[in-house]
Amino acid sequence: MRTKLFIIHQVEGFQEEIDQAAHIIREGGLVAIPTETVYGLGADALNEDAVRRIYEAKGRPSNNPLIIHVPSADWLEDYCRDVPEVAYRLAEQFWPGPLTMILQAKDVVPKRTTGGLDTVAVRCPSHPVALAIIRAAGVPVAAPSANTSGRPSCTTAQHVIEDMAGKIEGIVDGGDCAVGVESTIIDLTCEPPQLLRPGGMPLEDIQAVIGTVRINGAVTSEPAPGEVPRAPGMAYRHYAPKAPVTVVVGEPERSARFIQANVGRYSGVICFDEFAERYPEQVVQSLGSVEDKAEQARRVFDALRAFDSTQVQEIYAQCPDSDGLGLAVGNRLKKAAGFHVVEVR
Ligand code: AMP
Ligand code: MG
Repeated sequence: MRTKLFIIHQVEGFQEEIDQAAHIIREGGLVAIPTETVYGLGADALNEDAVRRIYEAKGRPSNNPLIIHVPSADWLEDYCRDVPEVAYRLAEQFWPGPLTMILQAKDVVPKRTTGGLDTVAVRCPSHPVALAIIRAAGVPVAAPSANTSGRPSCTTAQHVIEDMAGKIEGIVDGGDCAVGVESTIIDLTCEPPQLLRPGGMPLEDIQAVIGTVRINGAVTSEPAPGEVPRAPGMAYRHYAPKAPVTVVVGEPERSARFIQANVGRYSGVICFDEFAERYPEQVVQSLGSVEDKAEQARRVFDALRAFDSTQVQEIYAQCPDSDGLGLAVGNRLKKAAGFHVVEVR
């Protein structure tokens, strides 16, 4: 299949291209769209055949549910039932933005979209081009991350081209993703609400609005064998580069020293800018300053991907602390490592 590339970095002056991309989605095709979190692989969430093709293009297991993207909170009642008041409060504060809510699904949402569940994940993205395409399509857009299943998520159009060229109808290049990690997922169908995935919206900000949120065990550790995870996708190996990853948790000076003591000629290192010069013989991907978690979030997937075009045979990664966006960055690194984590004290 020939994949059409659209370059749409802004809405003004690009309505014709936006309408073309939306038309493909309305007709049941697949278009990768830029969002502020990561690139999404978009299709009409109500069209079972289109949704089936998302799973095929990604090689995604069919019980790993999709997030549906809507242009505003007024759409919630069309696709969700028994929407609690907290959902509207969160939408009011954080939409459009990197927050996904799990709610009870109405029957119009195909089971293929929800991975067979009675609940559905909903988000309103803030990237103006994504919003314009969804509005023009006039349907909720199912859009999982546009990577091949298991690989690091795509934060540039080039990443999407690597994974999806030839498999989908269109790719919209809307520039590099401003947030860089996927949305935070909160399950509002339980009491207290549960954090299923840390992401671009810090947990502390959500708790400031709705109070206590329980952290699902899969956020910080590997699910036990046989355990049925609440967020099915969490059971799968994720974000992994080809070389095995070891995440080093602890105060940055100590984690840097541990890595120095363990690296060899064919090691790769993911580290904070302050430590990048300590590994002159290794392939180094710098995440940004220790203090700048927003930058670490923007760079983490590109850093993980970059090793695949090198000869490195193992990768060591410094891990930020869990405050703010650090929880999401650390979670992505740990998942890339299959939870192979060393704690240094
Ligand atoms: P992705 O769009 O690739 O970031 O993946 C979406 C993730 O959202 C899935 O892997 C699930 O973990 C989660 N998810 C989507 N729908 C639901 C749901 N109904 N219940 C729980 N988790 C969900
Ligand atoms: Mg994904």
